[in-house]
Amino acid sequence: MSYHADEKGYYGEFGGAFIPEMLYPNCEELRQNYIQIMEEPSFKQEFQQLLKDYVGRPTPLYFAKRLSEKFNTKIYLKREDLCHTGAHKVNNTIGQILMAKKLGKHRIIAETGAGQHGVATATVCALMGIECVVYMGEIDIARQAPNVARMKMLGAEVRAAKSGSKTLKDATNEAIRDWINNPVDTHYIIGSVVGPHPYPDMVARFQSVISEEIKSQLLEKEDRENPDYVVACVGGGSNAAGAFYHYLDTPEVGIIAVEAAGKGIHSGESAATSALGKVGIIHGSKTLLMQTADGQITEPYSISAGLDYPGVGPMHAHLYKSGRGEFISITDDEAMQAGLELCKLEGIIPAIESSHALAIFEDRKFKEDDVVVVNLSGRGDKDLQNYIDYFKL
Ligand SMILES: *Cc1c(COP(=O)(O)O)cnc(C)c1O
Repeated sequence: MSYHADEKGYYGEFGGAFIPEMLYPNCEELRQNYIQIMEEPSFKQEFQQLLKDYVGRPTPLYFAKRLSEKFNTKIYLKREDLCHTGAHKVNNTIGQILMAKKLGKHRIIAETGAGQHGVATATVCALMGIECVVYMGEIDIARQAPNVARMKMLGAEVRAAKSGSKTLKDATNEAIRDWINNPVDTHYIIGSVVGPHPYPDMVARFQSVISEEIKSQLLEKEDRENPDYVVACVGGGSNAAGAFYHYLDTPEVGIIAVEAAGKGIHSGESAATSALGKVGIIHGSKTLLMQTADGQITEPYSISAGLDYPGVGPMHAHLYKSGRGEFISITDDEAMQAGLELCKLEGIIPAIESSHALAIFEDRKFKEDDVVVVNLSGRGDKDLQNYIDYFKL
């Protein structure tokens, strides 16, 4: 069985491109060119140079000694929290801005929920001197003021989506409308392994630098390229796709995807997509998503803004359905405790998204000599207020 996208962007039964007719030329142009461009030596050279000098790659693979002792197994942390802008997201936005330039585009649009992807996009647009418009729900603009300020400082225009629930899905609709109206000069930077083909595959390839580095770093530290398990949290699934990528076809490596159970899987306030999701179409892709009996998308909930997404990328839907991936859901409370524990044991303040991945060790037991790599997708600076409120600091 293949765990990579086929010619038409399918992972098993999931994926594809379910888009309005008017969007077809845009996606088609990208589809016809993306692999060829990514393989051009000049593209690779510039991408790798920027990952090194601008993002700060390779990020360390850190043996977490005290955490390992506590859970009686060997835990390594892949330190994506040390990337410029504080998370893995910039790996993808750098890749896509270079792609946009190769395609002759001189305007970038994006949509953002909590603002992290908006900031990563505004950052690379500033780097390249390219016009940037970020769509964001009016409600999200009000509750994510620091990220709105960051985007503005970086020179982006933040446009409010005022329709519907005034959150992410409305911002997505506005971005798509913009792209339809500006098919020639504009590239739409999607922030995770979601959206119509070729986005999930393209974003996974850009993020695959994570597992490429894990392989060589583990070889150096453990004299083997393959861990026993690789663990990552899943919102849309891009940090997980990057951490899993070079292990997908290596069955000896267990793949563990961690979703947000919010206040409990069956509480009505969760984002545990694989557990609760049914097949449906979101953001131009056929995948598992949380929906009502008559197919309306359910409003997701998680204490972590980055995991608060009603669907999951098609690669992950396939990993779940095929049994290749083990899926675990973690509640808000479990994640917050695990986040605080990492602070105390290792001196690292993790993003609340990443804290979900760290929380599995309480219940999921590993053997003493198992090598478990956890992708630490981001740092906790952005979540400080959440930590303060939760722990009454
Ligand atoms: C955005 C974000 C996520 C969730 O996005 P994925 O596409 O699932 O990786 C996870 N961790 C951090 C730190 C994020 O900023």
